[in-house]
Amino acid sequence: MVTFSRPPAVFAYYALTGIVIMAAHRAATLLGCPELVRNLIYNTGTLAAAVAVFAGVRINRPAYRLPWLLIGAGAAASALGDFLYYVYPLLGGVLANPHVADIPFLSRFPLIAAGLVLLIRRRTPGWDGPAAIDAGIVTVAACLVSWVFVINPVTVAAAGPLVALTSAAYPVGDLLLIVVGARLLLGAGAGLTAMRLLGGYLVVYFVSDAVYTVQAIDGTYAFGGWLDMIWIGGSTLLGLAALHPSMALLGERTRTSEPTASRRRLMLLALAPLLAPATLAVQTLRGANMHPLVVAVGCTALFLLVVARLAGLVEAQRRTAITDALTGLHTRRYFEEALGAECARAARTQDPLSLVLLDVDHFKRVNDTYGHSAGDRVLCQVAMRLRSVVRAGDVVARYGGEEFAVLLPRTGPQDAYVVAERLREVIAAAVMELGTAAVPVTVSVGVAAIPVHAPSAEDLVLATDRLLYDSKETGRNRVSMPAQA
Ligand code: GH3
Ligand code: MG
Ligand code: MG
Repeated sequence: MVTFSRPPAVFAYYALTGIVIMAAHRAATLLGCPELVRNLIYNTGTLAAAVAVFAGVRINRPAYRLPWLLIGAGAAASALGDFLYYVYPLLGGVLANPHVADIPFLSRFPLIAAGLVLLIRRRTPGWDGPAAIDAGIVTVAACLVSWVFVINPVTVAAAGPLVALTSAAYPVGDLLLIVVGARLLLGAGAGLTAMRLLGGYLVVYFVSDAVYTVQAIDGTYAFGGWLDMIWIGGSTLLGLAALHPSMALLGERTRTSEPTASRRRLMLLALAPLLAPATLAVQTLRGANMHPLVVAVGCTALFLLVVARLAGLVEAQRRTAITDALTGLHTRRYFEEALGAECARAARTQDPLSLVLLDVDHFKRVNDTYGHSAGDRVLCQVAMRLRSVVRAGDVVARYGGEEFAVLLPRTGPQDAYVVAERLREVIAAAVMELGTAAVPVTVSVGVAAIPVHAPSAEDLVLATDRLLYDSKETGRNRVSMPAQA
């Protein structure tokens, strides 16, 4: 594992360059410099981002270069588009709509999206359900907002189908990047600075492109305004992502973990569905089209996705509560629930029900001789061996520190005794291999059954525990069962 104490100096230099370009662009606008100068400054900003991405690939040498090369190609396409759109006409070129610049501008989207998809496939090759749902929530929310405020107005305002198509292609491309970006950022694995910078780039472009579209329709867009500065800033974030050393880890496989949710993520899950009523409110206040059907469908989808995500969290919480973290066996809590349920069933069906309790002999000595973590490994091996002997439907649980319980539904005392002997034997038969040492381990066992030895769940546990104690008293590594009642 590589550690990154500090990003290289070039990272800081480039960050500074980005700020200087933004400031220069703003100053050029305020000072009323010729448009060509301002446009050249702007274009320098986007070109620098593309150069920074390729420089980042050279400097940080990621093992998986292709995604970054695609992202760099996307940034270069963007810079070329800026040149054709902003600089070329001032050098005598002819401006038309759709413009030839639309080709490189629009190719930025699939290029960067392809790079991001490759990174996601590498990071989490399996099905990362919670991340997919979270990305789905962001997708639906972004689609809803984008449709109501950007895509629909831009197509309505467009003069002719070709213009409508190219104008709509931009917000759709931005949406594509937000969707893929959300899946990358919300996926399993540690958050990396490079990833956050990449996310910042996508969000800045998504928002500023949307604002640009609204301003362009309203006729309020002014070249050289704040929006241009923000775009330069966004491009700089992309360059910084590639120059940050953590970019090399972005394409490394991460573990697809149990569903969890940080406080921040829960807030996102809670806020996303509120975008639907917020959209209605804004459109009502603006006196604009409310798109009730789109909002209703979006709201429903958001609600269902959030419920699905919360259901996953509840399920994961329950799994954690009933699974022993060390051995992977059921916990005592699960065992007690199962005992209650099986007792009720046994009473209903008149089937017998047996309980086996096992306690590792002289386990304290194992800890004292080989250390606590060796003791832990012994417990895991005991758990594994117990599990290998029982049938499907039997419940094996870690009852306490080095005590285990095995619940045998529909099993009478004779059969239970045979199982208990088998459990004792499977532990004693071979030493536990700890790598550095081989430890002989035995267990003392008590076994009793309902209804012959005890009338209720509580009495069954008491009786079995007493028998386990008898096994300890009479020499350990043995099974005790009461004489048939
Ligand atoms: P006996 O044969 O009478 O059962 O002797 P014992 O040493 O097994 O019994 P005792 O109850 O004196 O000691 C149990 C030990 O198990 C003490 C405790 O530190 C240890 N233990 C309990 N839980 C864990 C665990 O999760 N990991 C490890 N390594 N040790 C544990
Ligand atoms: Mg004990
Ligand atoms: Mg013990």
